Amino acid sequence: MIPFNKPPFTGKETEYIKKAIENNKICGDGEFTKKCNKWLEDKTGAKKALLTTSCTHSLEMAALLLNIQPGDEIIMPSFTFVSTADAFVLRGAKIVFVDIRPDTMNIDETLIEQAITEKTKAIVPVHYAGVSCEMDVITDIARRHNLAVVEDAAQGVMAEYKGRALGTMGNFGCYSFHETKNYSMGEGGALLINNADDIENAEIIREKGTDRSRFLRGQIDKYTWVNYGSSYLPSDMNAAFLLAQLEQADKINDDRLASWQRYYDGLSDLQKQGKVVLPFVPEECKHNAHMFYIKTGNLDERTRLIAYLKENDIGAVFHYVPLHSAPAGKKYGVFCGEDKYTTSESDKLVRLPMYYGLTKDDTDYIIEKVIAFYK
Ligand SMILES: *Cc1c(COP(=O)(O)O)cnc(C)c1O
Repeated sequence: MIPFNKPPFTGKETEYIKKAIENNKICGDGEFTKKCNKWLEDKTGAKKALLTTSCTHSLEMAALLLNIQPGDEIIMPSFTFVSTADAFVLRGAKIVFVDIRPDTMNIDETLIEQAITEKTKAIVPVHYAGVSCEMDVITDIARRHNLAVVEDAAQGVMAEYKGRALGTMGNFGCYSFHETKNYSMGEGGALLINNADDIENAEIIREKGTDRSRFLRGQIDKYTWVNYGSSYLPSDMNAAFLLAQLEQADKINDDRLASWQRYYDGLSDLQKQGKVVLPFVPEECKHNAHMFYIKTGNLDERTRLIAYLKENDIGAVFHYVPLHSAPAGKKYGVFCGEDKYTTSESDKLVRLPMYYGLTKDDTDYIIEKVIAFYK
């Protein structure tokens, strides 16, 4: 069986975890957390990067930092993971879903402005498959309407837009290090903070509303409760696992990109014949091969393809029941404008196996079976 996903493993994880234990500091913000934060800052150019317990929690931190209040409106695509919406729903916000572009499956930047009302507080672009949204347009809209931008870059580590790292173009960027993502710590994430003014409050909210981070740096004599907050810092053991992967990030990225390219080349005849649609990466985007998907003709064809691949020992999956059609989405959100592509395009999408270490034999076999299905 070729699984859909295999968590990445580079070899040094166990040694680093052992070291974290020997440091006698397995709680948060130890040696390995600091190293991961620094790696993220160096790699992305973010003003500050803070490791968190998940991307979901990074999004929650962003909602807290923006002081989102009941009744505030947040604009995002409906074609996304539940966490993108949950973080804001927890603050009482109303979610305003906007349609996606069929080529990248990202929010259609030309439809955002018509969804803005006087209650709108933030735009949350989701960089699907590690392919960037049209960020110049989105940040320009935000600037003109005085809105915040929170990038859900859960899938976007090591990907770029016009040479800038995903997650560094909005007020905040949220990364995921869940085991299904390109780099993993089991469960975990990071918050990228792009305005220096937000750094201190982010540290406070992450540390249960206390100024403990300043205390640990010796900037104050004792720490105290200064704001609302929660506990968003991961164990240093998890950070140790992640550091082993970040140190090998180029190797992992190259390996995934090579698999992605093999799929693309191997299936491009099917696209030419009009049988499937392959992913589109705009010129200004450098993606990270977070996933390889194909789009079939319709829902029924997709269901049959997934079943066919399963019979042939290949784990393929679909993605995202659009949030606006889910029970909670109906309760907490509203779709603005016409659902021209969100439902129809998500119905066609199939993700093929993609992970660090996927072999050429395996991609060749998968390509052969997809072609056989269409014969
Ligand atoms: C994976 C994912 C998340 C959630 O990440 P966790 O680290 O599991 O909380 C959020 N948004 C998107 C788009 C994702 O792909």
